[in-house]
Amino acid sequence: MTESHRIARLLIVGPPGAGKGTQAQRIVERYGVPAISTGDIFRANIKGGTELGKRVQAIIEAGELVPDELTNEIVADRLGQSDAANGFLLDGYPRTVDQVHALDAVLDAQGASLDAVVLLEADTEEVVARLLKRAAVEGRADDTEEVIRHRQEVYAAQTAPLIELFSARGILVSVDGLGGIDEVSSRIADALDGKLSAVK
Ligand code: AMP
Repeated sequence: MTESHRIARLLIVGPPGAGKGTQAQRIVERYGVPAISTGDIFRANIKGGTELGKRVQAIIEAGELVPDELTNEIVADRLGQSDAANGFLLDGYPRTVDQVHALDAVLDAQGASLDAVVLLEADTEEVVARLLKRAAVEGRADDTEEVIRHRQEVYAAQTAPLIELFSARGILVSVDGLGGIDEVSSRIADALDGKLSAVK
């Protein structure tokens, strides 16, 4: 089955360190949609020393969430760009119930809605270990053990409740994030193909 020309509005959620960024790349190649990662947008702004970067740097280094209002505005703007008109994959957004509502409003205004949400499941200790490894390689400022553990708590408190919400809408696909990159990406492809053909 070829999926590359279908409009697919997707998102990927899961705890920090579950491999969302890596799997997001695989998904966008398969469906031919742009990846929109709020974490990447923030990091690029911090690196570039922009006003936005200055506003969010301390928040991100502490492992806290950037305020919803600011994050929602950035995503609404990004989704308004022409390359997102034929679908997209959001990675790291929405992360709060408020952000879900803001995203719904943006999509409603386009007469659109999300097609599927991939939940990449991974055990907390496993993801903490992965992030400690990434810290040694990439040196991300929010990859110290204390901040890593705090980000897991923030995920459990603020983002995990979204899973129920997407499940109730019938658009959630849960995938075991443990295993090799190819193994996990083929699990995601199977689950997403099944979900997308069921909703169309
Ligand atoms: P990520 O690369 O998705 O792990 O994001 C890195 C950091 O950027 C997070 O720990 C937050 O501080 C911030 N961030 C990314 N996405 C969001 C979001 N949707 N809402 C609030 N803060 C975010």
